[in-house]
Amino acid sequence: KMSLQQYTSIITGGAAGLGRSMASALAEMGSNLVIVDLNRNKADRAAEELREQFGVQVYVMEANVCSPEDALRVQEETVREFGRIDVLINNAGIVKNAKAEDTSYQDWLDVMNVNLNGVFLMSQAVGREMIRQRKGSIINISSMSGIIVNTPQCQIAYNVSKAGVISLTKTLAAEWAPYGIRVNTIAPGYMKTELTEKFFLEGGQLIDRWMSMTPMGRPGVPDELQGIAVYLASEASSYTTGSVFSVDGGYTA
Ligand code: NAD
Repeated sequence: KMSLQQYTSIITGGAAGLGRSMASALAEMGSNLVIVDLNRNKADRAAEELREQFGVQVYVMEANVCSPEDALRVQEETVREFGRIDVLINNAGIVKNAKAEDTSYQDWLDVMNVNLNGVFLMSQAVGREMIRQRKGSIINISSMSGIIVNTPQCQIAYNVSKAGVISLTKTLAAEWAPYGIRVNTIAPGYMKTELTEKFFLEGGQLIDRWMSMTPMGRPGVPDELQGIAVYLASEASSYTTGSVFSVDGGYTA
């Protein structure tokens, strides 16, 4: 039931970090991949490694998830290349940290655009195809910051965008269940990637405090999302929809 042979999976932000690691997990289970990323070079390198390591087909698209035209292009080109779309992982995301009173409207918009509007646009474009197919699994990457406020870090736009992803997940799960489409969320805690690298280096204070609030006492590594990604992509999760899975070392427990 965990096999992804004959599957086609789209992963946004698949060139780096958590997306790259989940791409690897899906490829290992046999899925062909479409890597969607702003960073063409990194995506090309990832694709080359994945083809070599797992012998699957990997198609790279340089695209911006918050462009409606790009979202449609991803859906169309994926169907043209592979004939179907089984899995969409909405993983691309950005973070901008500032106190609420100092957050510029432009920063607010930028974060909302990628983290929330991008998830809507990609889900809608790909969801229409999945409705036609009467099958599909959408996996949205939220964050523990969509569930709790991780003080003392100030990131109002990020927190609100990630909370929005959880509501979007539940809404789509309810609306699209009749079409055989499942929609779930993974809410990671602190995972060591480029996105969080600067927080791990910042004099250690912030990260020391986070780790003291994490029952497991350490940050996660990207590979620790691989199991849940394969579970949600595959038929192993055939009765699972509208759910939020925390993978955070116990932070939100
Ligand atoms: P990352 O910065 O290492 O990688 C993100 C990738 O997304 C990059 O390759 C980037 O080029 C791509 N990207 C960014 N904006 C894009 C856009 N508009 N269109 C297409 N691609 C775009 O980040 P990461 O740490 O791997 O995070 C991945 C996801 O996980 C994000 O949604 C993030 O909010 C979420 N998350 C991360 C952590 C963590 O601790 N790292 C924790 C919780 C949630």
